[in-house]
Amino acid sequence: MLRKLLCLLLITFTFSSAVISHSWTTTKLAEPSRLQSAGSSGRQIRVAPTSKILGHPLWPGSRFTEEQRERAVLRGLNFIYRTALVRRNFRDYGPDYIWCFYTLSAAFKDERARSLAHRMGLERARLWRREHPSVPADADAGLISELAYGNDAAESFGLRDEEFREQLKRAAPRYLARDYLLFDPLTEPPPSDVPDECDYCGADDNPRGSLVCHVCKHKLTIRTRYDVWYDALITTYVGDRSGITLGAHYTDVLKWLPSLRPYNAKPSEKDEEFYDTVYAITHIVYTLNNYSQYRLSPQLLPQEFEFLKTNLREAIRENDADMLGEFMDTLRSFGLTTNDPLIRRGMEYYLAHQNPDGSWGDRHEKDIYLRYHPTWNAIAGLSEYAWQGEGLSFPEVKQLLEQWAEGMSRP
Ligand SMILES: [Zn+2]
Repeated sequence: MLRKLLCLLLITFTFSSAVISHSWTTTKLAEPSRLQSAGSSGRQIRVAPTSKILGHPLWPGSRFTEEQRERAVLRGLNFIYRTALVRRNFRDYGPDYIWCFYTLSAAFKDERARSLAHRMGLERARLWRREHPSVPADADAGLISELAYGNDAAESFGLRDEEFREQLKRAAPRYLARDYLLFDPLTEPPPSDVPDECDYCGADDNPRGSLVCHVCKHKLTIRTRYDVWYDALITTYVGDRSGITLGAHYTDVLKWLPSLRPYNAKPSEKDEEFYDTVYAITHIVYTLNNYSQYRLSPQLLPQEFEFLKTNLREAIRENDADMLGEFMDTLRSFGLTTNDPLIRRGMEYYLAHQNPDGSWGDRHEKDIYLRYHPTWNAIAGLSEYAWQGEGLSFPEVKQLLEQWAEGMSRP
């Protein structure tokens, strides 16, 4: 699933570095260091804080400074990169790591963070290309999706491989929309009968409508339609971006958005519907604004904007580092700034909750995705973005969004 995803050529980076201690109050400057690239695990690109001057408050009266914010972002990037250097992590989530570095490097306003994320991503993208010289003849829909994701992420760094892309284009039509997206958006709305991976034996091939696992006979959890839908939205976004159709087009999936409104899920513990609603909404925003490159007009997505504003506090209350960043990121795309008390609360939360290793979230979590993804989102929540004005990834959907918004404002 893309959601769970998304050089040995020796590159030497040489630049000033600082040893950043585990507390942001002490920074010891070190000698410039030479960095090795991939292959040698555990190496990291070291970073220096942008400014030696401490003490510019984030806003009047803030207990945190601009310098602390910058340093927190760089430490977070360093954490993600360190985990991406671990062979197994990169094998499992390579495309997602590259996409993470790409989207941050494209969106950051701060030049130092931008260039660091770019170097990290480019280095990983080169490795990915070397490890994926061709599309296996027996690739199934899942693998084709993953390779399309990696290919798109590598192309975003300017690393094109025409032969590989041609192979993907030839392989993609071998499967149908249902294989890639678990439903066919041309003929049906997002369904409520897709079983999740079996909690007991891990089987992921239980057919739609199954209530018990065909392997171990345990009861299956059924995925919400929000979950199925936004996974499909991401898959088709990647496909359309790169010109490799993965079962259907982005607009085929987006057109079901009105069927998911209004958003009634209320925050409560273990409420999958609420979580999936949040991530469905944030991924409408991400796929429409090219992952934080464009601002979006709240008038195009009034219900989504309202839902995010209403529920941001919940993410803070729930101590949910991952969800909070998605809220902040997308709300800022709609125009909120650090003048807004909601965004301020979120930033202060992150600055008060960074782990000693530079990550955010549960340090004891074993699944590396659940370690680097909250860190990615925290970085996003803390960062200033270089917005390219209002825009849409796919300008042709504007009319559709306007029609829906107009329909809602009519009495
Ligand atoms: Zn099972």
